[in-house]
Amino acid sequence: MRTRGRDHGGAELLRLVPQEEQCFFCGARLVICETQERYVRTLRTLFHVIGKGKKCASGDCEHGALRYRSPEIGRLVLKGHEFGRDIVLWAGDQHQRENLSIARIHRRLVEEFLVPICERSVGNLLNDHLALCQCVAGDSGRVREKLKRQGGIVLCVDGVHFDEASPVLYVQRDAISGEVLYAERRLAQGKDDLVPMLRRSAELAAEIGVPIIGIASDKERSLVPAIAAVFPNVPHQFCQTHFLKNVAEPLKEDDQELAGAAQETVLALRKVQRKIERRFPAAAVGGTGAGAKPTRVAGGGDGVGEAKPAAEGAGTATPADDTALAEARVAAALARAGTTAGMVAGRPITDPPGLKRSQRLRQVRDAVEQAARKRGLQTPAGH
Ligand SMILES: [Zn+2]
Repeated sequence: MRTRGRDHGGAELLRLVPQEEQCFFCGARLVICETQERYVRTLRTLFHVIGKGKKCASGDCEHGALRYRSPEIGRLVLKGHEFGRDIVLWAGDQHQRENLSIARIHRRLVEEFLVPICERSVGNLLNDHLALCQCVAGDSGRVREKLKRQGGIVLCVDGVHFDEASPVLYVQRDAISGEVLYAERRLAQGKDDLVPMLRRSAELAAEIGVPIIGIASDKERSLVPAIAAVFPNVPHQFCQTHFLKNVAEPLKEDDQELAGAAQETVLALRKVQRKIERRFPAAAVGGTGAGAKPTRVAGGGDGVGEAKPAAEGAGTATPADDTALAEARVAAALARAGTTAGMVAGRPITDPPGLKRSQRLRQVRDAVEQAARKRGLQTPAGH
């Protein structure tokens, strides 16, 4: 279901780094050894996912070939797929409960959710949904062999909610191989409804003689006690990205507003910069360095001199021209600094881009005001 040549503009950056710091088997440090990049389309968002993988740094480790990856990606999308799990579930739901045809589901996805998908892929989604609702891959010889070879399982359990009323799709995955072990849809009223489901993974691990290294899940009401009951001695961690995202949710709108304001400032600064550079071409990037050759501006040797306005004369600049040029250079440099500051990329979630840009812009503004004060100029009103 991979499709080439899509427009990926406006994708939201999602950086995923595994939390583990030490090799589970030998205790050595883990080092980052790979970067995987892909785009994942969910119902509401297009993600540009950059996933880092870690491996054991010890040369003697028996499990040096093991790659530690963030469990988050498997929560978002099935292995090797382009469309998110929420789309699979949504399409399956529309088909099974609402009896919508493939053509209708396709139209709704394209028109209501703006998901660029072809009709044939919708058919594939429905097959994925069917497979997912009764997935018992953990019982297959292929998956068991794989888990045995890797020597440990990091179990991720999460529930995909579609709405309040319909059954939740519970998925149990191994984060190391990315394989879905078991999945089923069920209405869970309490812990006891989930215990049998979790037992399957516990039994799988026992049967192949491979330890469950850790468990990651979201903090769902009945899931947490069920995990504690089935895996009493296994470290259990709530999904941190999920947690942080929930914490940051109320800030999202404000940050987007800040990012929008920064964007406007950048556009305004570009105008200023172009104005300066039209008047003083030597102040542009690649022009002669500030103050390096105070008298022979035209002799920069980089072709910029040729574009000089006639008013500056042919290399016989007066002291007044030099001062103006020096100031133009400072102004152009500040405008450039502001442009860069207004476009820096933050790392969501902990480093919101809007906030970062506005902070950097403020630093540039402080520099501008300082320069203005030195020259004895009044700072502009309102700043
Ligand atoms: Zn190791």
